[in-house]
Amino acid sequence: MQFRPLRQRNGFVLVLALTLGLRSLSGCAGSCSHSEIRWVRSSTEYQVTAREVYRMATVHVREAAGRTGAPWGVVLDADETILDNSAYQLQLAGSGQSYPQGWDAWIMKEAAPVVPGAKEFLTAVRNAGGKIIVVTNRLETQCRATHAHFNKLELPFDLIWCKPDKDDGKAARFRLVQAQGVTLETGGHVSSIVAWVGDSIADFPSLGETGPTDTTSLARFGVDYFMIPNPMYGPW
Ligand SMILES: [Mg+2]
Repeated sequence: MQFRPLRQRNGFVLVLALTLGLRSLSGCAGSCSHSEIRWVRSSTEYQVTAREVYRMATVHVREAAGRTGAPWGVVLDADETILDNSAYQLQLAGSGQSYPQGWDAWIMKEAAPVVPGAKEFLTAVRNAGGKIIVVTNRLETQCRATHAHFNKLELPFDLIWCKPDKDDGKAARFRLVQAQGVTLETGGHVSSIVAWVGDSIADFPSLGETGPTDTTSLARFGVDYFMIPNPMYGPW
């Protein structure tokens, strides 16, 4: 997580909270004024959309697995792609705090549930013989808890690659992954990346550097790029 939608709107959030009174976190599911958080936490629309995207990705990966003879894998983001941190966003909205306040403590709780469809997708990749590479902007200091969290949720992975420096983006890590320059935690390398999954445009190669003006890369969505909906924050 590196974008600051709620943080930038912190003043608005604070005023709103003072005006309406701080709602209890548990009561927000039915009446939360943050419709973007409520949509993720309570709507059937979010559930089915996320599952729909992951089903499309699964169909693509199974087809691609049959075509490629080389060791292959998929690359995914973690937050709001595999892990649902909407409870943290709710915490920010309810307290008037802004990111990254409480973010490290939230990670250490290992409390985020799985985004709908993510576990099924990861299992399908593993069963099809693919490797799972998670490229996340969580910091190295947060990586041990992230590994433990994935293990607790029984989410398969071959590499969780945290942010080596707080000022780095994902581009350098993407280049190394594509150049087979990374040894997986489970051993070996991946020669071919057949799918990319994220919730931000920055989770996809080239788009993270050029932004959404790269029409060639944009045309890959629904082909080998798959976007999970996240209305709570982003670079937009
Ligand atoms: Mg994310």
